[in-house]
Amino acid sequence: MEIHRCQVAAGADLPEGIGRGNFWRVADIVPLTSAAGTAAATPAPTEIVVFITHQQGKCAECGLDLFKGNWIRLVREKPLCLECADLAHLEFLPRGDVALTRRATKHAALRAVVVQWSRARQHYERQGILVPAAAIQRAEEECLADADRRARQRERAAVARAAQEPGRVAAFAAAIGAAYPGCPAAEAARIAERACEKYSGRVGRSAAARELDPEAVRLAVVAHIRHTHTNYDALLMRHDDRALARQQVQPEIARILARWQLAQAG
Ligand SMILES: [Zn+2]
Repeated sequence: MEIHRCQVAAGADLPEGIGRGNFWRVADIVPLTSAAGTAAATPAPTEIVVFITHQQGKCAECGLDLFKGNWIRLVREKPLCLECADLAHLEFLPRGDVALTRRATKHAALRAVVVQWSRARQHYERQGILVPAAAIQRAEEECLADADRRARQRERAAVARAAQEPGRVAAFAAAIGAAYPGCPAAEAARIAERACEKYSGRVGRSAAARELDPEAVRLAVVAHIRHTHTNYDALLMRHDDRALARQQVQPEIARILARWQLAQAG
């Protein structure tokens, strides 16, 4: 699963944590980033961003009531309904098919990126794009035309991954077992799978070596303990303060880590 950051201008990520679900404040950074974007190598036009709102409000032009879940554009910090923003005629193409999205973008004279604030991840996530229906249709035709070739490419990539992954997972699990003999084997396997997922894509010997670095192993084990053996997630949900939550579960993590370092599993 890939997470796309909302790109406002060329190469300019929306700063993480901006807005905190409060879509009004996002408007502040749209003109800023587009101005800063002039330094970027590609003179891509500023992207039109459509937000899926979390608040109630009114369209600044027609006065239409806006509710949570409605799609809006922000213009000078004021929300506009898609009708008033002249985007209502566009069609939504959900993210997921990279080739289709790339091609529809190429054929679209007008395009908006649809984003939604993720509370869990504390950043905006790209949900898809709004483009003219004709652009989607043309893109679909192109994708159909070379679907075979792309399917074969995907298959080759999957085979290459499959050949490499099991060994990496087993090696990581073994590294956990060596450093933390008290860690139950089933948990070591789960930690290893998670860690290798995280590092997948970073291939090569140096990446593999870094992956098995004692510190990398320790961090993976600590993260696992934090989320499965402490009430960290509940604390985070209640206070929305990572530093405080981490501080509160620290003694419990240290206790379990020490036990796993010393004891034999069983
Ligand atoms: Zn309106």
